[in-house]
Amino acid sequence: MHTFPTYRRAPLTFVRGEGAWLWDEAGHAYLDFVSGLGVTALGHAHPAVVAAIRAQAGELLHVSNLYYTAPAAYLAEALTRLAARQSPEAGRFRVFFANSGAEAVEAALKLARRAGRERGGPAKHEVVVLRDSFHGRTFGALSATARPVYQAPFEPLVPGFRVVPRDDLAALRAAVDPARTAAVLLEVVQGEAGVWPVSRAFLQEARRLCDTAGALLLVDEIQTGLGRTGRWFAFEHGGIAPDGFTLAKALGGGLPIGALVAREPLACLLGPGQHASTFGGNPVACRAALAVLQVLEEAGLVQRAREMGERLAAGLEGLAARHPRVRGSRGLGLMRALALEGGAPAVAEACRQEGLLVNAIGEDTLRLLPPLVVTEAEVDDALARLDRALARVGPPRG
Ligand SMILES: *Cc1c(COP(=O)(O)O)cnc(C)c1O
Repeated sequence: MHTFPTYRRAPLTFVRGEGAWLWDEAGHAYLDFVSGLGVTALGHAHPAVVAAIRAQAGELLHVSNLYYTAPAAYLAEALTRLAARQSPEAGRFRVFFANSGAEAVEAALKLARRAGRERGGPAKHEVVVLRDSFHGRTFGALSATARPVYQAPFEPLVPGFRVVPRDDLAALRAAVDPARTAAVLLEVVQGEAGVWPVSRAFLQEARRLCDTAGALLLVDEIQTGLGRTGRWFAFEHGGIAPDGFTLAKALGGGLPIGALVAREPLACLLGPGQHASTFGGNPVACRAALAVLQVLEEAGLVQRAREMGERLAAGLEGLAARHPRVRGSRGLGLMRALALEGGAPAVAEACRQEGLLVNAIGEDTLRLLPPLVVTEAEVDDALARLDRALARVGPPRG
């Protein structure tokens, strides 16, 4: 191997995909309930995404942000319209384009610093984050990622982050301070930590505290956004309107792209020269993203994620009744976790042998992120494979 040993990979090489299915070199088919970690929401090789990429690649690949291109302009318009529709009380929005999730988070953190300074001077720079959060691997995003295993080897981190436990309203009230707090940054469902939804009461309290403290409420929708949870954006489950939110994973249909969408008066605080990205707003990635948004809307995939999510959740509860290793399930829409009594890597491996791809998180969690185009038959098929895999691994010892 010639790459850094940063990834723990399964011994599989994929050569082709279509819809919810992947094929390896030997021609074996796998039902893909990982979706490239929530990226391929339209499934593999969706014709609309393929056509958009092919067309744009033949016209224009890159010109830099010294100039305009139509795909970035249309995508920004589409995203701001979507944000305003799903969050009408927040007014108008603007978009900054990045190339990944972590970069979108960096833009959000810089916006928080700018807004804090504007409203309360340099002391108002703290960002309140949740324990077990995940916001990315660059230094700013890593500093917002309150997980010692990821942070400790790379200290010192960026200063100015304050950590509160998820759903601890008293800790949140104690942490948000008008003189110090620039922003609260959170995921509505903590994905990398194992699919842990944040309570509606906590989200609403965060919104209220940010309003009274003059702080921004920033929601990381990189994994949850664009229909994954059965709503366009997960913040809708909380009945809250954020000041800004990040997108990435599903946005480009498989091409790298990230975005920070923020309320217009705030967005204008990052002026010329204050933030930039050479590749940000790449025409091919933006044209692919436009196709993704169009298919999500026209095929009603957000509603579909809600319906298929309910079917999947019911099936997972059924597995809990049949297998002593299964404790239960949690999640929203098509972002689901199966809670196990240990052995998650062994169950994921057994699933692979049954032709089903799932993601093990630690010893006790399987994460399921099927594409939003998944059919009823495919959900049932995946549940049958999971059932056989659990039988193969058997009950926990002791
Ligand atoms: C995946 C993820 C990120 C990081 O995205 P990258 O593209 O890997 O930098 C940030 N936040 C959340 C919630 C994520 O799920």
